[in-house]
Amino acid sequence: MPALENNPALVAPKRTSPLFSPGTGPDSALVIFVLGGPGAGKGTQCSNIVRDYGFKHLSAGDLLREEQDRPGSEFGDMIKSYIKEGQIVPMEVTIQLLENAMNSEIEKSGNRKFLIDGFPRKMDQATKFEEVVVPSKFTLFFDCTESTMHERLIERGRSSGRADDNEESIKKRFRTFVDTSMPVVEHFEKEGKVVKVDANVDKDAVYEKVKEGFSKRSVPGKE
Ligand code: UDP
Ligand code: MG
Repeated sequence: MPALENNPALVAPKRTSPLFSPGTGPDSALVIFVLGGPGAGKGTQCSNIVRDYGFKHLSAGDLLREEQDRPGSEFGDMIKSYIKEGQIVPMEVTIQLLENAMNSEIEKSGNRKFLIDGFPRKMDQATKFEEVVVPSKFTLFFDCTESTMHERLIERGRSSGRADDNEESIKKRFRTFVDTSMPVVEHFEKEGKVVKVDANVDKDAVYEKVKEGFSKRSVPGKE
């Protein structure tokens, strides 16, 4: 493992105020965090939301896997071992990847609506992101039992090629979710910023609930 604290590339952005203001106007960004245990169905539901509401989908896990595979990345080996162990990669890396992806989407298409999937999974990431990038509108939380998630992950593991869709990694990911990520959901719940959806039912039924939640929170649709 590289000495993280000595790595100059791993210094969190030094800004003391957020890069964007919340919303959809110029200089702003609308961010919805999407959380739920591994296999809860975040990615599947995000595709529906992208199709109907015109959000850009940014999966923190996908961005990390991309960075891991990018030739010349100094973080490749570190990311690989964190993912396999179901641990949370140091937030500086993930926040920077998200910020870059947001900036590049805004530059490319002018779209300022983002679904941030699988992030923040730890309190420090939540606080830092809202401090230096933008405060979230709310968190969409997929509430799912471990047995449902387990079944889905094993099924996905047949074809996903993911290094963490196996029994051993799944166990560790569940543990990290309960110990480290649920406190984030509870934190936002206290702020009244969680839309909670039962994710144990079939995916069309889940999506109906998502749409209800979005309408209550006045999420803007496609332009
Ligand atoms: N990960 C991380 N920080 C994040 C998001 C993901 O370190 O902010 C790592 C973590 O090791 C996690 C893995 O990436 O277990 C896979 O995340 P992904 O969101 O792809 O998993 P999913 O929830 O879709 O099963
Ligand atoms: Mg996912």
